[in-house]
Amino acid sequence: MKAAQKWLMSGNQAIARGAYEAGVTVATSYPGTPCTEILEAVSRHPGIEALWATNEKVAYEIALGASFAGARAMVSMKHVGLNVAADPLFSSVYTGVNGGLVVVVGDDPSAASSQNEQDSRHYARAAKLPMLEPSDSQEARDLVLAGFELSERFDTPVLVRLTTRLCHSKTLVRVGEPPEPRIASGFLRDFDKYVLLPRQAIIRHHALEARVQALAEFADTADWNRVEWRDLRVGIITSGLAYQYVREAFPHLSVLKLGQSWPLPAEKIRDFAAQVDDVWVIEELDPFLEEQVKALGIEVASQGWIPRVGELTPERILASVEQQAPQPMQLGDPSIPGRAPRICAGCQYLGVYTAISRIGVRVAGDIGCYTLGSLEPWNAIDSVVCMGAGIGTALGMEKALGERVQGRLLAVIGDSTLLHSGLGPLLDLVHNRGQSTVLVMDNSTTAMTGLQGNPANGQTASGQSGPGVDLEKLIGALGIDWVRVINPYDLAESEAVLREALDHPGPAVVISRAPCLLLKRKETVQQAHLSEEACTGCGECFQVGCVAIERQDLEGRVAPLINHDLCVGCTLCVQSCPEGALQPRRLVPDLVELNSCPTPTPPR
Ligand code: SF4
Ligand code: SF4
Repeated sequence: MKAAQKWLMSGNQAIARGAYEAGVTVATSYPGTPCTEILEAVSRHPGIEALWATNEKVAYEIALGASFAGARAMVSMKHVGLNVAADPLFSSVYTGVNGGLVVVVGDDPSAASSQNEQDSRHYARAAKLPMLEPSDSQEARDLVLAGFELSERFDTPVLVRLTTRLCHSKTLVRVGEPPEPRIASGFLRDFDKYVLLPRQAIIRHHALEARVQALAEFADTADWNRVEWRDLRVGIITSGLAYQYVREAFPHLSVLKLGQSWPLPAEKIRDFAAQVDDVWVIEELDPFLEEQVKALGIEVASQGWIPRVGELTPERILASVEQQAPQPMQLGDPSIPGRAPRICAGCQYLGVYTAISRIGVRVAGDIGCYTLGSLEPWNAIDSVVCMGAGIGTALGMEKALGERVQGRLLAVIGDSTLLHSGLGPLLDLVHNRGQSTVLVMDNSTTAMTGLQGNPANGQTASGQSGPGVDLEKLIGALGIDWVRVINPYDLAESEAVLREALDHPGPAVVISRAPCLLLKRKETVQQAHLSEEACTGCGECFQVGCVAIERQDLEGRVAPLINHDLCVGCTLCVQSCPEGALQPRRLVPDLVELNSCPTPTPPR
């Protein structure tokens, strides 16, 4: 018999492998940390249609449609993406599935790359669908396979919850054989199941309640909810990655490891609690398991000890248990100097934020690399809430403050975010006679999550390319007749056009267009150089905020020191210098000194 292969895989890669082995036909996603790599990994497996959608709601609906058609389908997204997909999620639990449907969600404790720390386990209970929680990459692969079986057996979508550290950590995975090709069984019309008119919704709600009962009974038999008996003085109930921390911190104590965090295996929990002196519940983020355990009439001795903010670690758990109080999250390692995230040297955002900070306006921001415009030196963004929120927020401020903010409100949004959830608010701006200006940062990619394709650049997840959507025409079709495109590397033009847009008596859109430097790096033919004599130390060049501009002391003046390993020669600092002390200089290829070449040794 052939030995099973073991591969070192991240949680995200293992999820993709599980989907492949389960015979998934369609996989969809919208990029978002920590789950972006799932679809990227899926797209490298044969036989799967991997699709980036414009947002998580559409991604969910595509996967649901594939499931209705009898194919196995998977959709993955970050935790806040599940909020966007919540509408079809809640209703699809009523319709149920045809082919298995697994929904992977990545939570982000410590908000490593997110605007909140929401605990997506609440969605399982609120929408009434089962949730599986792996603790390592092996379980990520295994529980995806199990999730498809569960989905088809109980006629329900199944949530699989990961957290950032699990998504990105690598552990060994015993993989299975490539699957036999699966043919989608086809869509069978079933009016009462798939057409959620009010009467049918009630019929399906009855079916849903019966299913929840069956799922709860099944949870007591599922082997992913398992007991590890050790010292009986304390029994710890845990799930997900917290299980690994618990095992490390308390290797001597008994543990009930839940692979399914909703619905819970009530009998297994009662049996476990009856055999230990004290029950502790250790979980990351909200007391989701704890509340359910207490609802079973079980006293939880660890109540109030476990931190609810930030990622857990074995040390933090140990300290919290020792102190019987949640220990605060340590922000960074004090032995390592802090380093704020920065915009890349020579990025287009440097130009537009320099222009914006010169004008001085209120800016409602959005989610993307450009969110960093909220930091020093520009301090250019006043609010950031969620994907697509900037335009609506600006309109709300405008309607609340009227003339007091006329000509002084700007919404900033990236091309991918505009297509994700910015078009509706833009339409509202027109419909409600708004006058705010919208600045679209068009860098032809979804940059922050790693250069994924989107409808603006025409790139698909499977590597096909085609014409992207014409943003000017799209925006014009929404009823905005004042649309200008600027070259963000021309500081004077950017400032002038933005001022004109803000003065326009009606909604105006400025598109700042230049490719992300990681996507299409311009050949660096010149770099900024300083004339020390001409520099007065006025500091204007520092306002560009380029990481290639360091500081040096020049006889008591603080002057720029250009880091030529980083400078890409965008000339923004050159344009900002009122003294002409910074000048672009062409790069001269290194001359090879012929006489320094080693003399070749003749072959023996
Ligand atoms: S030219 Fe100036 S602003 Fe542009 S990359 Fe070089 S140092 Fe930075
Ligand atoms: S803007 Fe020009 S003069 Fe002012 S500090 Fe920079 S290089 Fe010197």
